[in-house]
Amino acid sequence: MSRPIVATINRAALRQNLAVARQAAPHSRLWSVVKANAYGHGIERVWKSLAETDGFALLDLEEAILLRDRGCRKPILLLEGFFHPNDIELLDRYRLTTSVHSNWQIKALAEAKLSAPLDIYLKMNSGMNRLGFQSEQFHNAWQKLRSLVNVGEMTLMAHFAEAESAEGIVEPMQRINQAAQGLDCARSLANSAATLWHPQTHHNWVRPGIILYGASPSGQWQDIASSGLQPVMSLNTEIIGIQQLAAGAAVGYGARYRAAGEQRIGVVACGYADGYPRHAPTGTPILVDGTLTRTVGAISMDMITVDLTPCPQAGIGSKVELWGNNVKIDDVAASFGTVGYELMCALARRVPVVVE
Ligand SMILES: *Cc1c(COP(=O)(O)O)cnc(C)c1O
Repeated sequence: MSRPIVATINRAALRQNLAVARQAAPHSRLWSVVKANAYGHGIERVWKSLAETDGFALLDLEEAILLRDRGCRKPILLLEGFFHPNDIELLDRYRLTTSVHSNWQIKALAEAKLSAPLDIYLKMNSGMNRLGFQSEQFHNAWQKLRSLVNVGEMTLMAHFAEAESAEGIVEPMQRINQAAQGLDCARSLANSAATLWHPQTHHNWVRPGIILYGASPSGQWQDIASSGLQPVMSLNTEIIGIQQLAAGAAVGYGARYRAAGEQRIGVVACGYADGYPRHAPTGTPILVDGTLTRTVGAISMDMITVDLTPCPQAGIGSKVELWGNNVKIDDVAASFGTVGYELMCALARRVPVVVE
């Protein structure tokens, strides 16, 4: 028998989450964001379950080509555009829509020899100050691109730094409106948070990512608990050892946890080499034999130790859920200051994945 850890990908949940995203923005077309190997879920595994989408958005040219090679004929958007002028040849061959965020990309497009024009997402900087043109420079960049024979349809693209809150989109929307003035352009602005919570941002195309995978854009499960979204990934394993501690006995590397009194401890087959973060502290929620309990002591490379006090019936072979339908990935992440995004993206290659 192999090690008991397994990640399960629930395709029905993926389809359901896409339907929830669509209902939230019924008048917009929808890019399903599948960057970073579909947020750790495996782009090859999930893309067909997202067949109802209008297009796929991602970052890596390799992932875009993989989708085309598997027979995907929907629009594919490169969220950060091309990273080198030589890539344009592949955008042309595979018919990819590209974001454009810098002047060097405009120049490269002007000089490229294409078989047909490419559709462009011109990125404006909404105030996040990562990629894109300032609203004052946007017109100029737009006109330059518009005059190129190599450019087909054009869309204004922007991204929000704080779409979890109503105030977070006020200034960015002002900047975007300023940039779009007099252009009569299609727009794509909304990530998951804006798709769920800010209809005024929806416009022509929304770009949800995290909600497709059933986690919260705010990092708080409560914020999406009644939305109909369902976790897509479950990470499950088993107890492989039991220790009966005497008062004062320590557990794991660095003796970071000591039993106050007698205590039963379970040893779980999962560690940081599986993608469970080493900095998860004592107290991180975990489900053992259907009962919510907590981790104790340091996370090892291949093992986690848990408190069996609430589940005295648990023993070797008892089922453990690290995250999934019962223990929400958002709650696990929140207990050590990160977000579900990071945990799902970090699922290690050594973890076997089952699709159901
Ligand atoms: C990742 C990303 C998204 C999706 O963000 P979520 O918060 O996962 O919905 C949308 N747009 C851009 C430009 C992105 O990089």
